[in-house]
Amino acid sequence: MKNIVIVGGGAGGLELATKLGDTFGKRKQASIHLVDANNTHLWKPLLHEVATGSLDSGIDEISYRAQAHNHYFHFHIGRMNDLKRDTKEIVLAPIYDESDALVLPERRLEYDKLIIAVGSQTNDFGTKGAKEFCSFLDSREQADRFHKKLLNTYLRADNAATEQGNYKLNIAIVGAGATGVELAAELHNTATQLAAYGLDHLTKEHLQVSIIEAGERILPALPPRISAAAHRELEKLNIKILNNTFIQEVTEQGFITKDGTMIDAELKIWAAGVKAPNWMKDLGGLETNRVNQLTVKSSLQTTLDDDIFAIGDCSFMLQENGTPVPPRAQAAHQQAYHVYKNLVRLQEAREPKPYEYKDKGSLVNLSRYSTVGSLMGNLTNGSMMVEGRIARIVYISLYRLHQVALHGYFKTALMSLSGRINKIIRPRLKLH
Ligand SMILES: Cc1cc2nc3c(=O)[nH]c(=O)nc-3n(C[C@H](O)[C@H](O)[C@H](O)COP(=O)(O)OP(=O)(O)OC[C@H]3O[C@@H](n4cnc5c(N)ncnc54)[C@H](O)[C@@H]3O)c2cc1C
Repeated sequence: MKNIVIVGGGAGGLELATKLGDTFGKRKQASIHLVDANNTHLWKPLLHEVATGSLDSGIDEISYRAQAHNHYFHFHIGRMNDLKRDTKEIVLAPIYDESDALVLPERRLEYDKLIIAVGSQTNDFGTKGAKEFCSFLDSREQADRFHKKLLNTYLRADNAATEQGNYKLNIAIVGAGATGVELAAELHNTATQLAAYGLDHLTKEHLQVSIIEAGERILPALPPRISAAAHRELEKLNIKILNNTFIQEVTEQGFITKDGTMIDAELKIWAAGVKAPNWMKDLGGLETNRVNQLTVKSSLQTTLDDDIFAIGDCSFMLQENGTPVPPRAQAAHQQAYHVYKNLVRLQEAREPKPYEYKDKGSLVNLSRYSTVGSLMGNLTNGSMMVEGRIARIVYISLYRLHQVALHGYFKTALMSLSGRINKIIRPRLKLH
């Protein structure tokens, strides 16, 4: 193994590059290369907080180059767009600056082992008008763009509420998965927090946040009692939940349902469905499923090429119970560590081991209002519902685990302390 190349420095890929760098890279057993389309990493489950301003992405982002320097791997900025399996190379698209001047030409990178970890995108299922009129939260760039749009919308609405007593700002989110539900609570929080910073004409009476879901209940992937608890909490915040509502078209005015009803929305967010990017369809002749995910064996090697692994949201692995490993940060985290262990085994000419997804439970954080979810494991003997402070602590610890994998315990403790200090010295919301 001369060159181990990881494409995508997200929840799974950056942890893997760090671990491989600290072992194989440090001992000069292999050259570790990480490729990402961006210069910095931000843990994706934080994106809705960035979008609403509850989190300043500038504070939590990590520079790939700095991480590479500290952990013995090489970083390459670039967007992979092709794979040449015959020559064992990946192709990176040219990079242009804002004025379309070429920064870097098309490049090729050779690999002996390749790990694809490029994540997923929201799936708008080709719904008419969705791309044109909806905001999506798939990347830091989109979250930053949404944040600017949101501040302008609230500013405009505050002005309108000053002039018209019965003014309503309608915001609608399609998709009642964790992203949609957490975002709805965050949007409510932002509106109430902004009042303290001078936008005090826009009260919660002027704001109507709606969640639109095609299924029977919110959080369909979670047990019904968690979904019911979250539903109750959202209703307390006056968030409207429209279950069994299928969106057929999106226009500038709002969402049109299958039965022709118009749901007015000044801000429209699409947070339903997951698919791997389109360029991955049949990538290099590898097996992909109908949503472009690379099909992998239980060893996490792709079905048609043992030198190529796929982890996280862009991979598709069926479990013994017939369901796929879910597209979640905890799966990406576990798979990163599993691929590391399998690369060690291959280096020692041993067979790779099968991966088994261990569901540690799911938590949904409703901004500062509440956290609900379930914990699974030996201690709880199956699934245990948690709410309130304990749930909030476990929710935060998921992110801390990611930080520990990237920086170790000492630095993570310092980061946690600096986060607390920032809460005292900085505004509660990012206001610009
Ligand atoms: C708002 C939100 C909240 C969420 N909350 C939770 C939660 O509470 N719990 C949970 O378990 N999961 C949650 N998830 C899901 C979780 O974020 C994903 O499952 C997880 O990030 C997947 O990890 P990954 O490594 O596969 O991909 P990602 O973390 O998405 O990383 C992919 C990386 O690949 C890079 N990339 C993409 N395309 C290319 C390319 N062509 N070339 C080079 N680089 C590329 C990207 O820049 C990115 O750095 C949430 C998701 C969202 C959007």
